[in-house]
This record gives sequence, C-alpha cells and structure tokens, in this order.
Amino acid sequence: MSQSTESTEPSSTRYNPLDVEARIYTMWEKAGYFKAEDKSKKPPFAIILPPPNVTGQLHMGHALDHTIQDLIIRWKRMSGFNALWLPGTDHAGIATQSVVERELRKATPPQTRQGLGRDAFVEKIWDWKHQYGDRIYEQMRRLGDSCDWDRATFTLDDGVSKAVRKVFVDLHKRGLIYRGTRLVNWSWPLETAISDLEVEHRDTKGTLYHLAYEVEGVTNSDGTPLRLTLATTRPETLLGDTAVAVHPEDERYKKLIGGRVKLPLTTRTIPIIADTYVDKEFGTGVVKITPAHDFNDYQVGVRHKLEMINILNKNGTLNEHGGKFQGLKIQEARKQMIVALKESEVLVREEPHQNSVGYCSRSGAVVEPMLSEQWFVRMSQMATTARHVVENGSIRFEPESWTKVYLHWMSIIEDWCISRQLWWGHRIPAWVCDDGHTTVSEVDPSECSTCQSKNLKQDEDVLDTWFSSALWPFSTMGWPGENGAPTELEKTFYPTDVLVTGHDIIFSGSRA
Ligand SMILES: [Zn+2]
Repeated sequence: MSQSTESTEPSSTRYNPLDVEARIYTMWEKAGYFKAEDKSKKPPFAIILPPPNVTGQLHMGHALDHTIQDLIIRWKRMSGFNALWLPGTDHAGIATQSVVERELRKATPPQTRQGLGRDAFVEKIWDWKHQYGDRIYEQMRRLGDSCDWDRATFTLDDGVSKAVRKVFVDLHKRGLIYRGTRLVNWSWPLETAISDLEVEHRDTKGTLYHLAYEVEGVTNSDGTPLRLTLATTRPETLLGDTAVAVHPEDERYKKLIGGRVKLPLTTRTIPIIADTYVDKEFGTGVVKITPAHDFNDYQVGVRHKLEMINILNKNGTLNEHGGKFQGLKIQEARKQMIVALKESEVLVREEPHQNSVGYCSRSGAVVEPMLSEQWFVRMSQMATTARHVVENGSIRFEPESWTKVYLHWMSIIEDWCISRQLWWGHRIPAWVCDDGHTTVSEVDPSECSTCQSKNLKQDEDVLDTWFSSALWPFSTMGWPGENGAPTELEKTFYPTDVLVTGHDIIFSGSRA
C-alpha cells in the first residue's frame, strides 16, 4: 500500500489520497449508498447530471460543476430525502465525429468517412465509444461523485431514441417542426450546419476593399458613368449580391433609389433599394446586399423579396454562380478576384481593417453563412412558455443576475435549426418517396403516407445534439414509457429540483 520505495519504512505518516479514496469509494458504491428509490416515503430530490461529452476526458470545469452537485445531493441525502443524482454521457454529434475522423486521417493508409461509408463509419464511432466511453465514469468515481450508477444513460440509448422520435413526430404534427431554406452557420471542412455555440468570434486583421459599382444609365456632369462606392471585407461575395442599399433619407442617393447598378465581373444588374438598416454615417452610406451569405443582408433580402443567390458548394468552393472562379476555395477566389477587380478599376481603395470573424470551434475554419435546406423548431410559442415559468418564479436562476440574460435571449430567439449534416447522432425520422412526399414517423414506415409508394429514403441528416439534451430530464426517467403512462421514476422525481451547469448553456440550441 505504501508509495515509498524504501521497503524498510513503516507505513507513511502522510495522508495519501491514492491509498484511501478509491477504497472508500468502492465501499460506498458496493453498499448502495448512492441509490435512489423508485418509490419512497421520503420526500424526493433529484438532480440530472448535464451529461459530459463522450469525447475525451473531464476537465477542471467538470470537477467544479460535479463538486457542487455532489455537495447538494449529499446534503439532501443526509437530510432524509430520497435523493437521486442521475449520471450520463452525451454522444456529442459534431465533437465525436470530428475526433474519430481525425483518427481515421492518421491511419495508414489514411481513411475518410466518405471512403468508409455511413454504416462502417458509425460502427467505428461505436467501437471508439466502447473503448473510451467509460473513462469518464471512472473519472467521476475518482472525483467521488455520489451518482446512482444503475441509472446511467447514454444519449443514444434505445429509450432516449424512442423519446427523441416521439417528440419530433409530435412537434411536427403540431406544426412546430418544419423544413425550410434558411441562412445557417456553415462549416465547410465538416460540411454541416453548426450552432451559434460552435462559432468562436475573434478579432481578426483583414482588409476593407472599396468597390465602385457603375449606376446604369446615369452619368456625371463630365459624361463619365456615375459610380457608387461601397466597402466590404469579403469581395468574393459580390457574386451573390442581389441589391445595393442606401438609407431612405440619405439626400446623396435619394434620386437613385429604384435605379440599378451593374454588378462587376458579371453580366447582371441589381436594384438600388432603400432600407433603414443602412447606417448613413458609416463609410459612403452604400452597402452591398448578399442575402444568401450574410445574416443582416438575409433580413434585408426577406423584407425586399430579393433574389437569394448561393455562391458556395458544401465543401467551401465556389459553385456555378462563381463564373470563372468556379471550383476555387473561398480564400483563393478572393485573391484572384482582387486582381480582377483591380484590373477592371472596380477596386478603388484598400485599407487595413479589424473586425470580428466567426470561426468553427471544431475545424478552425472561417464559418460561412450559407443558405441551405434544414429542419427547424418554431420557437416563439415555446419561448413564451419558457419566459413565463421564469417570470412567475417557478424556475429560478442562481445567481439571480442571469435571469435578465435568459429573458432577453428568449425575447430575441429565432427558430432553431435542428438538422446537422453528420452521420453520428439521432437520424431524423423523416422519409421521402420518389414523388417527394415526406412521411414523418415514430417507427420506420414501410410505405409513403401520401401515395403508399414503397420506395422510401430516410433523411440523411441527424438531429442537433441539443435536441436530445432538451429531453434529458424525462427521457432519462423512462419517458415515454409504455402506453404513455408515466414511469414510477417520473412520478417520483419529475420535475427535477436543480440544474447545475455553465452559464453559456443558456444559449444552447440557438439559430443554427
Ligand atoms: Zn409518396
């Protein structure tokens, strides 16, 4: 038992946690001290552990978070409560898939998920999960976490999958889940939409390019064409411009509203529109509008019913709208375009510019806002309920200062993009027939619900991990159970009492 290398030394007089903690923890666990009872005369108290990502290992943040939960649950247990602390792990779609893809690239010869195919790749992740998934539970035991281990749940367990499908189908029936084409944060190395939480904003040194667009049919007093100058950090996106905008009260441009400009390097002309979104004081007061690749421009595009031209392929290269730049990656396209814009004297000035750029936290690449077809959850009605339960005090934030942050977030929340172009996760329970009808179903359907065609293909996408996280407080308790009757566990412990987690989680399940 002694850690000393001196065999003659008697047992150490110093406290050595290695000698003590594991032994005592095993004793606690074996004696069943951490087990909650399904039914009990004691008052119930429940905490569901926010499940750590099955990737990697626990860090100091987890240690702090778990310690607080452990303190609360032990205190309640010793105060005579039937105390449940239910542990689990999260499949963490994008994080896990990126880790396993990285492993594949390191193999000899290097492999890719596309090369393996969906089924083989998913099997590889399960292997990986079986190898490393329990490491987190071992770490939690070392921390002394007094969890009810018999109830440990993984977010891809059968019971959870059943809950996910039921909620998806129910919300779809009620019109709260829909498919639509919207602007999302796109990670081109991973070829998927990512959430706002996975976008890291960093101040980045770049260049502001001043471009002059020629106004169609309007000349200066000397007979030269009138040009409108605007500034952009992303000149390559001009290929997707569908308008230039000015402020409606800007005297300099009032008479030009309704006219058109020639879009450089293309044969297109685009309208000059007026929108109060434009800041008269910023730059020249003229902005280019690229609705398919900028979140603000998208809103302008919706307001003015502008055409939305997506110029990117899923892998971050320019598509058929790229003209002679088609097939180039964005950075390369930008370089070549700057040369072309200089040659055609459209680029009139360059200046160094610092601005906030979004990077994909998984791949490190610059995130491209991109128009794509995705599944969404309609948020307004749910946000009203979610606001109400905090306003009326049935759910309380500690410290209280986060209440304001939460209520503000709920007041500006947009519809939640729940589809991800990944292979690891809960696959979307929607099937499309050859005629394009969609069948949404809890069990795999054998035929199309509209035309009875047997030729069905399941949607390739999986759900955002937060979709299953949102159901965690009751999916872990056996919901939806048999015949819709609540389980004993649910009857005893739902709703739960405390959620201990990082404040950034307030913003989970965001725009995309
Ligand atoms: Zn059909």
